[in-house]
Amino acid sequence: MTPPDDFAALALDDDPGVGAESSAAQQVLRRVFGYDSFRGDQREIVEHVVGGGDALVLMPTGGGKSLCYQVPALVRPGVGVVVSPLIALMQDQVDALSALGVRAGFLNSSQYPDERRAVEAQFVAGELDLLYMAPERLRLESTARLLDQGKVALFAIDEAHCVSQWGHDFRPDYLGLSVLHERWPDVPRIALTATATEKTRDEIIQRLDLGSARRFVASFDRPNIQYRIEPKNRPDRQLLDFIRSEHSGDAGIVYCLSRNSVDKTAAFLSENGITAVPYHAGLDNGTRAANQSRFLREDGLVVVATIAFGMGIDKPDVRFVAHLDLPKSVEGYYQETGRAGRDGLPSTAWMVYGLNDVVQQRKLIDSSEGDAAHRRQLQLHLDAMLALCETVSCRRTQLLAYFGQPGLPCGNCDTCLTPPQSWDGTVAAQKLLSAVLRLERERGQRFGAGHIVDILLGKQNPKVQQYGHHELKVFGIGTDLRDGEWRSVVRQLLAGGLLAVHGDYGVLTLTEASSEVLFDGRRVPLRREPERAAKPVRAAKAGKSVAADLAPVDVPMFEKLREWRAATAKEQGVPAYVVFHDATLREIAARKPASLADLGSVGGVGENKLAKYGEQVLEVLTAGR
Ligand code: ADP
Ligand code: ZN
Repeated sequence: MTPPDDFAALALDDDPGVGAESSAAQQVLRRVFGYDSFRGDQREIVEHVVGGGDALVLMPTGGGKSLCYQVPALVRPGVGVVVSPLIALMQDQVDALSALGVRAGFLNSSQYPDERRAVEAQFVAGELDLLYMAPERLRLESTARLLDQGKVALFAIDEAHCVSQWGHDFRPDYLGLSVLHERWPDVPRIALTATATEKTRDEIIQRLDLGSARRFVASFDRPNIQYRIEPKNRPDRQLLDFIRSEHSGDAGIVYCLSRNSVDKTAAFLSENGITAVPYHAGLDNGTRAANQSRFLREDGLVVVATIAFGMGIDKPDVRFVAHLDLPKSVEGYYQETGRAGRDGLPSTAWMVYGLNDVVQQRKLIDSSEGDAAHRRQLQLHLDAMLALCETVSCRRTQLLAYFGQPGLPCGNCDTCLTPPQSWDGTVAAQKLLSAVLRLERERGQRFGAGHIVDILLGKQNPKVQQYGHHELKVFGIGTDLRDGEWRSVVRQLLAGGLLAVHGDYGVLTLTEASSEVLFDGRRVPLRREPERAAKPVRAAKAGKSVAADLAPVDVPMFEKLREWRAATAKEQGVPAYVVFHDATLREIAARKPASLADLGSVGGVGENKLAKYGEQVLEVLTAGR
């Protein structure tokens, strides 16, 4: 499958602007992957690496990073060595490539020595196009010697943000990757990540010695993902309603903070007729691997997980990501929600969030290891996340601004679709802050939000009795708002830094900015929660959303093709998307190609898959007509 060396020469000589149709890279794209054109920066990246240049590629999940190193690995002589931390996924990556007719292998600690030796022999014999390995392998002198015995076409450093200590996925073994450049200075390196903050980017460049690499920064927008954040009241119920009304039968990921709530939520969904499995570090390896494998292989499974799940999962048809607890940072939120809709089809990022989330996160920060600077960093992350939750403007614009990318209101998030009204919360804020102030100044006491709200509402709870709080001047001054509205006020003051929360009990305290509201007449505009949360906003649709944008007459054919795909994938023991992606099946259902040649021009149908499945697909089409 490795193209002859003159392919590479052809690509080098080729002017990407003129006659690019026939470049070696273009041919590989069509012949192997079945795509007609590169997307976004892919062409430039590919040509740059084919030409021997180093590259740093920042592209969102679903942007098409894999092709950026897979195509050059096929065009350049030798084997593309891919460094990846995702050992559990290497088998699937290799299977997916094999389905395309690409010769791929991996080396990691999960293998038996003889399996490993077989792969090593293939590498030395030049019988591989791509070789995946875990970063710790590259530190071994034996690995270095192995690589010297064969020919390396390029090094691809996937999930390159793992080298960043401040990032969210630091892996110490990534620090060792600076040896690549020292030991093999002539082999081009391409580092790829979907992590976008400038701080992480700079750290990647510095630690991987990529100062002279060309940088390719794509837009981080994921236009097919609809962002929604709703007030949390009964999270399980809310989740169930959300899935039933918008994503029944779809594959999705639900994130919870604790293992306990993962287990409970998975059980709750299952009891209510939604196929769901748990995934967290407390489960034994076998169960975890089995649940992940089911998620990848079955259509329409829901995984309820802690954040330990999902990085590198390249399942293209995850239709929703739900958060039942607040992520620790905007970065984390973006990465996790980004696992939805890699195939570019409409998907939803849905979250519920409440006051307790803030208290809980604050508690985690207070008890976290590390010095004061580290905790401050965590607090900044949380503040940015809260600001996103409480924003009155477009969520997407705010998200992209966090990554330094400007944008206009998107029309596909809850705040764009159902703009929240704002109201003048100055007086409410003053009432609340003075309750906190009085407790502190007059009594030297601190309390959590629940008790403070009770005081404002004039509720006679046991604590009020015990501490004589009904004698406070602020007792009962807040009956103009309801309990839920007060909680919203507290959340927004926290998000705006006008109030702070501390410690195990989530006590509220004033900040420096509080006094501006209390004494200097600072105004406090607040958002009013929409009466009912924003409803699904795409045109109402029935059944499976992947079929939603097909013409109704084509839906039955799409379903038939999916059935065929499910059976085929099961027979071969691979995930359904390794056979064909949804997008490919949709195009087939819509176009109904009548010949193999016709079918071969559908996106995602390369030579190998055409030869393997072409006749069968045509049969399904004929039978279903
Ligand atoms: P990433 O690694 O950046 O998350 P992938 O490499 O998995 O993204 O690609 C995301 C999806 O886009 C995959 O389904 C892939 O097949 C598809 N894709 C990538 N590049 C192209 C292209 N040039 N034309 C059509 N589809 C593409
Ligand atoms: Zn928007």
